[in-house]
Amino acid sequence: SANSRFSTATESSFNRRTPPRVPNLIGGAFVDSKSTSAIDVINPATQEVVSQVPLTTNEEFKAAVVAAKQAFPSWRNTPITTRQRIMLKLQELIRRDMDKLAKNITTEQGKTLKDANGDVFRGLEVVEHSCGMATLQMGEYVPNVANGIDTYSVREPLGVCAGICPFNFPAMIPLWMFPVAVTCGNTFILKPSEKDPGASIMLAELAMEAGLPHGVLNIVHGTNDIVNAICDDDNIRAISFVGSNTAGMHIYGRASAKGKRVQSNMGAKNHGIVMPDSNKEATLNALLAAGFGAAGQRCMALSTIVFVGDSESWVNDLVERAKGLKVNAGIEPDADLGPVISKEAKERICRLVQSGVDSGAKLLLDGRNIVVPGYEKGNFIGPTILSDVTADMECYKEEIFGPVLICMKADSLEDAINIVNRNKYGNGASIFTTSGAVARKFQTEIEAGQVGINVPIPVPLPFFSFTGSKASFAGDLNFYGKAGVNFFTQIKTVTQQWKDLPGGVSLAMPTSQ
Ligand code: NAD
Repeated sequence: SANSRFSTATESSFNRRTPPRVPNLIGGAFVDSKSTSAIDVINPATQEVVSQVPLTTNEEFKAAVVAAKQAFPSWRNTPITTRQRIMLKLQELIRRDMDKLAKNITTEQGKTLKDANGDVFRGLEVVEHSCGMATLQMGEYVPNVANGIDTYSVREPLGVCAGICPFNFPAMIPLWMFPVAVTCGNTFILKPSEKDPGASIMLAELAMEAGLPHGVLNIVHGTNDIVNAICDDDNIRAISFVGSNTAGMHIYGRASAKGKRVQSNMGAKNHGIVMPDSNKEATLNALLAAGFGAAGQRCMALSTIVFVGDSESWVNDLVERAKGLKVNAGIEPDADLGPVISKEAKERICRLVQSGVDSGAKLLLDGRNIVVPGYEKGNFIGPTILSDVTADMECYKEEIFGPVLICMKADSLEDAINIVNRNKYGNGASIFTTSGAVARKFQTEIEAGQVGINVPIPVPLPFFSFTGSKASFAGDLNFYGKAGVNFFTQIKTVTQQWKDLPGGVSLAMPTSQ
């Protein structure tokens, strides 16, 4: 039932409300915000209000920062092995509650249960990786840089760090952030998406159950005001952001001006180049999955297909296959794709499709008027395919972030690569081919951070990093992997001398001898 959603605090005031109110987490306590303003969290398949998320007050935000600041000294001095063991326990607890987490994601975000499980799993892998933090954050050592003098560097935590999340991966993206940050020895303030904050709260409950000390992880809710407060607060040293370019560039600018480190993963327009020599069956299946999975609301969704030469005729087969996909509430076992996140999102997507039609694209498949029996109020859009799209069209330039595939044509591999490279975004790009020479040329010349070769959604596992580029990323230390550890640590370099010290004074710059 709705009232037992937040299991650790059943007696608290936020659970006695109807609908329940999502708590903040401040200094180890799940607390109801005193704020009188709140936003409805809406099930996108039914329009039911699942819960309410408060616009956390400034005093509460400050209390979260103080809690994180106070927790830092003892947490950074907690042995790395102890910090790792909490992650080891956390990964076990996430596995235990995987279905519960997935169900919450489907309810608040709309994606299918199977896809929601994947959302949790891809985040879980970051927790697993954080269990090896002692090795990941190792420093460097050079003995005898001069007679009797050694130099070594160590990676130390920064202090209080913060994370600001988007709606599309309610578990994976918080898990890209806080496990790496806290295992490095930082304390953390998480600001989940106001559209689907439930998974963050459940993950925080698990982190507490795993033994994370009070104040190490804090959660505050809200929108622009709280984000600005995070950017401005001098106690916060670094911000991890994932979301749109509008918010990301604002946060990058505002927080950088305050001297903070920022890593900002933003929007995308990922292209798939289809070569006529590719395996047609496998390629079409990959395009369907990557274009329409999660209703196109993945930052690595393959939203634009460039058909090269004779592969152009495959678009008709693509349309036939797309017609076979089942649109339904994510909770229904037969659903291939669920609703989009909000009414506003649906309107925006439909408007962009119409703008394509108005500027001369061909609408080969139109999912805009779909009605899902039993879920008539849901924000559903069926698979939609536009062909003959050109680079000047708004539907090409803007990120659509819905179940819409944009199809373009190119005469050659060269032309196709030029199309991709002229796009402002650089998150991911894939090629489908059986030619090694073609694949190699693509891999070398393409300007995108994450490259797929016969792989439609090349999201790297956590021992690599998530490496979007161009307008899809701001900052210089990417998420997770080695770069993520570097983002959440700073280097201290120590030069030590242990020898019988010589007599005499020299004021010249020391040189090694
Ligand atoms: P969004 O930018 O609307 O919201 C993200 C976060 O920023 C939320 O927590 C929100 O409260 C806050 N926010 C929004 N507008 C703000 C403003 N003007 N000032 C301050 N804070 C603001 O993004 P979204 O709609 O939740 O997520 C979808 C976007 O995220 C897409 O563009 C998608 O490509 C991108 N995304 C990127 C990646 C990646 O790794 N590159 C991953 C997932 C999603």
